[in-house]
Amino acid sequence: MNSERVHSRYVTSAALKALEERGVSIKDIADIVFEMQYEFNKTLTMEECIESVQRVLMKREIQHAILVGVELDRLAEEKKLSEPLQSLIEQDEGLFGVDETIAFGAVLGYGSIAVTTFGHLDKNKIGIIRELDNKAGNRVHTFLDDMVASIAANAASRIAHRIRDEEERRMAEEEVFQ
Ligand code: MG
Repeated sequence: MNSERVHSRYVTSAALKALEERGVSIKDIADIVFEMQYEFNKTLTMEECIESVQRVLMKREIQHAILVGVELDRLAEEKKLSEPLQSLIEQDEGLFGVDETIAFGAVLGYGSIAVTTFGHLDKNKIGIIRELDNKAGNRVHTFLDDMVASIAANAASRIAHRIRDEEERRMAEEEVFQ
């Protein structure tokens, strides 16, 4: 057994590489964040959404969830899992909820806005989430679509909280200078 501690830099680059190799870019996730948050903040920019996604992707728990999910999708695609897990993941069996459970666990650190946004994305599957969900052939994205929803929900929640902080800071300033 290798007991040498895994450096977080290595985990970060592996998680980012896993997303990229599975066809998901930071921009794809930021597009979802923009769509979710623009109605609440008409001055929101794509740059802010991209930055928020990047910040979420720096979290160790998120990286671990990505690595687990992508690995299982990949192994299922290569038919390397044992039965019945192979079939459950390959067929994205409706009652197999471990993909959602892992992704849901990853939103809990970002508060209730992340939780409700995740629920919305899970149901309505927008942007790249829908594309992943619809991918035909032998591609398996059972875990990846939920992980993308989780990352987007966290990034959207970060933005919502940041905007409120900014508003309150401005109001407090105005009160002082009245
Ligand atoms: Mg799924």
